[in-house]
Amino acid sequence: MSESAANLSDILARIDAARKKAVAPAPSTTLIAVTKTHDADAIRPVLDAGHRVFGENRVQEAMGKWPGLRAAYRDIELHLIGPLQSNKTREAVETFDAIHSLDRPKLAHALKAELEKQPKPMTMFIQVNTGEEPQKAGVAPHEAAAFVALCRDELHLPVKGLMCIPPNNENPAPHFALLQKLARENTLPLLSMGMSGDFESAIKFGATHVRVGSAIFGERSVDAG
Ligand SMILES: *Cc1c(COP(=O)(O)O)cnc(C)c1O
Repeated sequence: MSESAANLSDILARIDAARKKAVAPAPSTTLIAVTKTHDADAIRPVLDAGHRVFGENRVQEAMGKWPGLRAAYRDIELHLIGPLQSNKTREAVETFDAIHSLDRPKLAHALKAELEKQPKPMTMFIQVNTGEEPQKAGVAPHEAAAFVALCRDELHLPVKGLMCIPPNNENPAPHFALLQKLARENTLPLLSMGMSGDFESAIKFGATHVRVGSAIFGERSVDAG
């Protein structure tokens, strides 16, 4: 077995164990295997092991490797977990099945227009800047309700959940708890939270999607942000 396939099976077992230990886990927790910076050859062993849900943080990079992999493997589900420019919505809707980085009205309107041009089933998450870090994407927690109302109720975008990236070097638990609270208040069923270092904690707070990269594919040589 390749190292990444072995890591995959280890992470799936840890997800299972964390769900069993959790008092109130989500009905299911999907592992998004994050493949940014890794090429098709590095991804294939994980596909061969049967995994089908993947995440990329850049539209352009995903366009380079996933059409070929989609042609070779059925039922791939690809999630955009990084920032999206409103002039890249056509490519994003073409390339991805889910978008986790919806975070501003201009982007919401652009996605609405694009989905009218090329209708397809998609899942969207609103990114919340739970740490209110100035350099980080996402709506502030106090703006979340109004932005959910705009995206879901006014524009009828397929918004099903919230996503967060807690500040580095901080206990992520309060951020996961806050995201869970905001999702409940806004009756959103999905929670995208938890990465290689903290997915077990996120599962405690009801994560439905964990985004794990380096624990499966190894450390990235370039920091892809
Ligand atoms: C890279 C990335 C991840 C995965 O991070 P790891 O620490 O490698 O597991 C998760 N979420 C986002 C938004 C990312 O950009």
